[in-house]
Amino acid sequence: MTEDKNDAATAELPRTDDEWRARLSPAEFRVLRRAGTEAPWTGEYVNTKTPGVYHCRACGAKLFDSVTKFDSHCGWPSFDDAIPGTVVEIEDRSLGMSRTEIRCARCDSHLGHVFRGERMTPKDTRHCVNSLSIRLTPSE
Ligand SMILES: [Zn+2]
Repeated sequence: MTEDKNDAATAELPRTDDEWRARLSPAEFRVLRRAGTEAPWTGEYVNTKTPGVYHCRACGAKLFDSVTKFDSHCGWPSFDDAIPGTVVEIEDRSLGMSRTEIRCARCDSHLGHVFRGERMTPKDTRHCVNSLSIRLTPSE
């Protein structure tokens, strides 16, 4: 793993909603900037096995390595680990539930939620991520 943790670090990040809307599709904006959730089983990466690295669709930061992706059968891409330091966790008490939201550490865009204690993998962690929040760069 390389240490160039910010591929796109030289690019200016949008500051306003209008700037984000210019960069993102309406569906991407709703998920990434309004903490929306795409419908289960509809995302382009639910069943993807292609080796590579998943980047933040909003800012391009590396977030997840495909080696941590696993079949969770929950309808969203699931990873049992994030690339260290790339994802921040925030308590989310919306919808009458206590969950942990995950956001991109670089641009603060919404990715999904993280769940622990489900015993799906040895790491016992499921980063449940919207396909609309990430973009796969296949390895060579
Ligand atoms: Zn980002």
